[in-house]
Amino acid sequence: MTPLLTSENVRLYYGENEALHGVDLDFDKNQITALIGPSGSGKSTYLRSLNRMNDLIPDVTITGTIKLDGDDIYAPRVDVVELRKKVGMVFQQPNPFPFSVYENVIYGLKLAGEKDRQLLDQRVEESLKSAAVWEETKDHLHDSALSFSGGQQQRICIARVLAVKPEIILMDEPTSALDPISSSKIEDTILALKKVYTVAIVTHSMHQASRISDKTAFFLDGKLVEQGPTEKIFLNP
Ligand code: ADP
Ligand code: ADP
Repeated sequence: MTPLLTSENVRLYYGENEALHGVDLDFDKNQITALIGPSGSGKSTYLRSLNRMNDLIPDVTITGTIKLDGDDIYAPRVDVVELRKKVGMVFQQPNPFPFSVYENVIYGLKLAGEKDRQLLDQRVEESLKSAAVWEETKDHLHDSALSFSGGQQQRICIARVLAVKPEIILMDEPTSALDPISSSKIEDTILALKKVYTVAIVTHSMHQASRISDKTAFFLDGKLVEQGPTEKIFLNP
C-alpha cells in the first residue's frame, strides 16, 4: 500500500527546546491512525506539523521531511491555505464560528470563491450527513451553530472540514471535551469516514484507540517508541 502522507526524521524545536526527536511515521489511505502517549509526549506538536499549524508559533524550527502524495509540504512554493484544505483539522474544543450552521459548513468553499448556490446546498447536506448531524440540523440550517450541544457542534466542525474534501483529517482529542454518549457517536462517525478519508487522531484513551484505529503510534518524550497494527500493539503488554 502506498502511504498518503509520510514523515521522516521530523524534529521540532520550540526555541532551543527539542520537542520531537526524529519521528518517522506514515499514514495509509482509508486508515485510521491513533497517536497515543502521555501528556507532553509530543502528540499534538507532531500532529500540528502535518498541516503546518506550528508555523503560526514564533521561534519554531522544524527539520525532516513530510510529504503528501509525494510532495514536500514544507517546500517554499507550497500554498499553506491550500495545504490546510487537503489536510483538515478538528480540535479538542468544538470551535464553530459564531454564525449559522450553513455558513459554518460552506466557510472554506466561500473562501475559495464558490458561489453556485446549488452546489453549496448540496455540499452542506452531504457534509452534515457524513458527519452524522444532518437530522438534527436540516430544519435549523440558519440557526447559530452555537445553539447546538457540544457533541453536535463538534460534528458541525467535522462537516466544515469535510465540505472542502480534504485528503486527510487530523483530529486532536476530538472527543475529550464531550460526554460519553456524544463521544461514542463521534467515534462511530470517524469509523464511517474511513471509507472515503484518511484519519490521524490524537487520543489519551486507549479504549478509543483500540476501538477505532487500524494503526497505533505510541509517543514518549518526543519520540515515537512503538508503532504497528492496533490489534498487535494492544495485545503485547
Ligand atoms: P502532547 O500533545 O503529547 O500532550 P505536546 O505536543 O502538547 O504534547 O507537547 C510536547 C512538548 O512540547 C511539551 O514539553 C510541551 O510543553 C512543549 N510545547 C508544546 N507546545 C509548545 C509551545 N507552543 N511552545 C513551547 N513549548 C511547547
Ligand atoms: P494538550 O496536552 O491538550 O495539547 P496543553 O495544555 O499541553 O494541551 O497545551 C495547550 C496549549 O498551550 C497548546 O496550544 C500548546 O501549544 C501550548 N503550550 C503547551 N506547552 C507550552 C509551553 N511550554 N510553552 C508555551 N506554550 C505551550
